[in-house]
Amino acid sequence: MDVSLVVIQPTSLCNLNCKYCYVPNRKDSSLINSVVLEEIFKKVFSLELKEERIEFLWHSGEPMLAGLKFYENVVKLQNKYNTNNITVRNTIQTNGILIDCEWAKFFKKNNFSIGVSIDGPSFINDINRVTWGNKPTTKKVLEGISNLKEEGITPGVLCVISRKSLDYPTEIFDFFKNEGLHWIGFNVEEIENANEKSSLNDSEGVSEKYKYFISRLYDLWNENIPKIEIREFVDTLNVINDKFRSPNYYRKPDETTDFKIITIHKNGDISTYSPEFAGMPSAIHNNFVIGNILVDEFESLPENKIFKKIKRDVDASIMNCAKQCLYFDLCGGGFLSNKLAENGSIKSTETTSCSLHRKIMTDVIFEKLKKMPNKPIYNQ
Ligand code: SF4
Repeated sequence: MDVSLVVIQPTSLCNLNCKYCYVPNRKDSSLINSVVLEEIFKKVFSLELKEERIEFLWHSGEPMLAGLKFYENVVKLQNKYNTNNITVRNTIQTNGILIDCEWAKFFKKNNFSIGVSIDGPSFINDINRVTWGNKPTTKKVLEGISNLKEEGITPGVLCVISRKSLDYPTEIFDFFKNEGLHWIGFNVEEIENANEKSSLNDSEGVSEKYKYFISRLYDLWNENIPKIEIREFVDTLNVINDKFRSPNYYRKPDETTDFKIITIHKNGDISTYSPEFAGMPSAIHNNFVIGNILVDEFESLPENKIFKKIKRDVDASIMNCAKQCLYFDLCGGGFLSNKLAENGSIKSTETTSCSLHRKIMTDVIFEKLKKMPNKPIYNQ
């Protein structure tokens, strides 16, 4: 089984109420129980992994609300069951509010990677990223980042692009640069699960404004290579590079590859493909639950009837994309949870993420490359 990423949702509880959040049950304070947790490590470390490394991503709700003792136990259990000494990476995707000196020391000591969610300077970040009492959060998040830096940790950041962001590419880029944040991933505000509308779908002229945003961001990034890495530009340029090298190449996203990503819910339920499937209602797919860690072996999951039904739909989605979309080779299909949330079917094709984050992004990058024919394509 070619698993490279295990996404674990220790709780759906969150201390913030971000306006675009897709996670359901964010006031439910229940935690993953210790039996489920131990079973995860017992079974994951007994898998024959193709590559001798595995990443655990602690995600969904605010994972730090599980508490420091919880993660101390995680490290203990990983050490206990990792008898083949494979390389383990733990990544926490957090809103950053709870990072104090004690947490920062723990992350440093145990080599955790940290991703902090922040959408830019306070006049943008505080529009959507607010407390349950609708209070701003930027100051507190920057304190958390500062505590990490004290320990020599520079977190990556995830920045959600909403309608307001589109007018401020320079301010957003300069903010991250001035804060010394070198790795940035951008997501678009999506319709998904609990988030039923997006500011990017509601307003006129979004495509033109998005194009301007990406174009400006690309120029700023280009002036700052290699000090700053923007995930979308690096990924797209690498894919273009691969396509030039081999005309038969097409991208194969992890989210469409069987069992490349496994998501484990706090009750032990197991999903695969897109991590956002976890908690997504879909009666025909058994809400994307294909087993439970307490009773099922990973090896039996490929034969599971629900998995086979989901797989048929994912494969059909990829086929439809390959037939209908000019960008297929550079995209490979994907955005599965967006397809279901926006179009009502995994087998559908274009979504907001496709038209903005894939198509306009690719067009802008091609335009830039045409103007710089002698400049080598960025490759990691
Ligand atoms: S951009 Fe969208 S429609 Fe096109 S291949 Fe990718 S997922 Fe499919």
